Amino acid sequence: MPDYARMIESAREAVTLASSVCRQVQRSLDQVRAITKDDKSPVTVADFASQAIVAWVLRERLGEVILVAEEASAFLREDEHAAHLEATLAAVQEVWTDATADDMLEAIDIGAGDIRHHAFWTLDPIDGTKGFLRNQQYAIALGYIEAGIPTMGVMGCPNLPVDMSAPLDEPDPAGCLYYGIRGQGVYEAPCDDARASPTRITRLDHVPGDPILVCASVEKAHTNISDTDRILEHIGEEHDVVRLDSQAKYAVVARGQADAYLRMPTRKGYIERIWDHAAGAMIAAEAGAAVTDIFGHELDFSHGRGLEKNRGVVCAPPRVHGLVIGAIRELGIGQDEQR
Ligand code: AMP
Ligand code: MG
Repeated sequence: MPDYARMIESAREAVTLASSVCRQVQRSLDQVRAITKDDKSPVTVADFASQAIVAWVLRERLGEVILVAEEASAFLREDEHAAHLEATLAAVQEVWTDATADDMLEAIDIGAGDIRHHAFWTLDPIDGTKGFLRNQQYAIALGYIEAGIPTMGVMGCPNLPVDMSAPLDEPDPAGCLYYGIRGQGVYEAPCDDARASPTRITRLDHVPGDPILVCASVEKAHTNISDTDRILEHIGEEHDVVRLDSQAKYAVVARGQADAYLRMPTRKGYIERIWDHAAGAMIAAEAGAAVTDIFGHELDFSHGRGLEKNRGVVCAPPRVHGLVIGAIRELGIGQDEQR
């Protein structure tokens, strides 16, 4: 059996350090933009730096690892992106002080792991890139998948306030980190301290009569908000919708701040990526939420880089999950593409 305790400790350290690098890049957005002469480059730099740090820490602590991550080093290896390479190396050296450009590129490419392994890590080095650029919510999401099932998850949410009464669209100085091992509970800790003592979180069921607070993507292309509104109208209970970027939505449901995360497909044929869901879905499910696609099917991580057999996501405590899946069926949403 894998040494889960050692693996999760290493993963937590990796995500904490990557979060600190992302935060650092965010503090110097203008400088990075000036170096790279490109508005979107801070997120590119932070993405590569985050992936390099996570891969480096996992390998240092655990030896050879199989990592399937979103980014590849090819972009940084091109001559015309020398400024990006330089800015990314500067960001990486904040925590990996003696890294060379070659060390860093090699670490990024650890993320090109072969998906056909029985067990592997999967990483989104910055999920919610638009949130990162707005200095709102984003996440560093690291999951471990065994035989198609996420069995561990660590998610750094550097801008997510631990105080659930604080506004979700404003950055927090400490941020939150969530982690869990399947069957062993989910824990919350500050995102800037890998040694801080964690608090266990549990998702209680929704109480009839309480309003249903739903969270959804900010980006219109990523979720169908009019379907979300139709579903909530059909359920007929008091409700509200809050918009935030990234897998922080799974954490917000897991910790009881929202009563559902709905990701309603916007276009036929879009296949969700495993790194956009493995860590978050594992954490929400382990806390006590039900996590399925819009037809009520379990998310199936055994089909490579995409959730080929699923459509969209419904993550909610059992009562709300049942109401949402029932409403989707009764309204006939997605019927034309049920697989
Ligand atoms: P969110 O922060 O919830 O808006 O999700 C961000 C993720 O949405 C990105 O990491 C993308 O991989 C993913 N994405 C890109 N295009 C789509 C799409 N058409 N539908 C759903 N998700 C998408
Ligand atoms: Mg993503």
